Amino acid sequence: MRVEKTQENISLCLCLRCPSYSPVCRIKNALQNKNQQTPDLAVRTHYEKMFCAFQKSNCIHIDRGCLCAQCAVFQKYALNREEFCLHAGGKQTEERLYQ
Ligand code: SF4
Ligand code: SF4
Repeated sequence: MRVEKTQENISLCLCLRCPSYSPVCRIKNALQNKNQQTPDLAVRTHYEKMFCAFQKSNCIHIDRGCLCAQCAVFQKYALNREEFCLHAGGKQTEERLYQ
């Protein structure tokens, strides 16, 4: 199921707490990430968090771990991929492939 671009889902996203969320990305998006209300959310294609609903990141380039599997959105939509910030459509992990 496609992840809905809602404020509720955004508030559940763990990306901002993730070690892969780079300091540069944090600084660049500080204002956007502080102002949780985004009126055009539903029609946006890019947003620097909740990457499972939007395009991959423009400023996260190094894999330092992923919190997606611990996220309520991940459970809610029965996602089976992770690292959506680094891979368009997310990355199927080896462990999950063989489950
Ligand atoms: S998609 Fe995964 S790896 Fe990327 S910032 Fe979010 S939790 Fe971290
Ligand atoms: S599954 Fe990952 S990208 Fe999607 S909302 Fe959760 S932490 Fe963010």
